[in-house]
Amino acid sequence: MTAPATATRAPLLSVRGLTKDFRTGGLFSRDRHRALNAVDLDIPHGRIVALVGESGSGKSTLARCLARLEQPNSGQVLLDGEDVLRTQKRGASRAYRSAVQMVFQDPFGSLNPVHRVEHFLRRALLVHGRTAGEDELRELITTVGLTEDMLQSYPHELSGGQRQRVAIARALAVDPRLVLADEPTSMLDVSVRIGILNLMRRLREERGISLLYITHDLASARYVADTTQVLFAGELVEGGDSLALMNRPAHPYTQLLLSAVP
Ligand code: ADP
Ligand code: MG
Repeated sequence: MTAPATATRAPLLSVRGLTKDFRTGGLFSRDRHRALNAVDLDIPHGRIVALVGESGSGKSTLARCLARLEQPNSGQVLLDGEDVLRTQKRGASRAYRSAVQMVFQDPFGSLNPVHRVEHFLRRALLVHGRTAGEDELRELITTVGLTEDMLQSYPHELSGGQRQRVAIARALAVDPRLVLADEPTSMLDVSVRIGILNLMRRLREERGISLLYITHDLASARYVADTTQVLFAGELVEGGDSLALMNRPAHPYTQLLLSAVP
């Protein structure tokens, strides 16, 4: 199942020439490691884009640059054509931070164990200057496939898959246009993983949300993503329609990745 055609519409998010170097060695070292090299990427409205690549290829660094948790050395990030790294518009930075939300790999690590689920959702809203009524919280929790009584649960009372759903609800609280999901399913059992992938598809269908789905699992990329981009040593080496890419990979690295899929 694919979303309606968006070919005539400009992408929601465009990345141009994004480059990120990390310092290696000590504080005064001049050595640099190039984690991302001149990355160009478009994320259309209401589409799921998978970003695949082996560990260390730069997937998280790219997501963190897009979430503005990391400052790239050069390049542009355009949201609806607006250069978010350089804009002088008042409130643009704040608007961007609610439009683009990130979900991390380890849902427990990002949920403080002393708080109830309700607290995380309220807090997510508060960060963006909003408060939530009971109805809104109930709607959020049921949207991600959990029951209303789970608002009163503590993280340790939930399974891994349920915690990841809470993390997704927290991201959804601020009505994002793009969710960056960094290996959200890699710590989950296969049966639970499918549920999260289906939830991502539902968010695309029902809310028109775009997703960047980061994974090293090509089978799940093929299952959920409209298009797939392949990152190798900090460079996007290949990208396109997920099925076409996996049926006829052109780049030797993509072929290698696919040969590892059972
Ligand atoms: P992936 O998510 O694909 O596994 P990462 O984006 O985490 O890859 O890492 C890409 C490269 O950048 C790796 O070589 C990693 O060691 C390096 N790197 C990531 N974050 C930092 C950091 N904060 N400081 C130094 N090097 C980093
Ligand atoms: Mg990573």
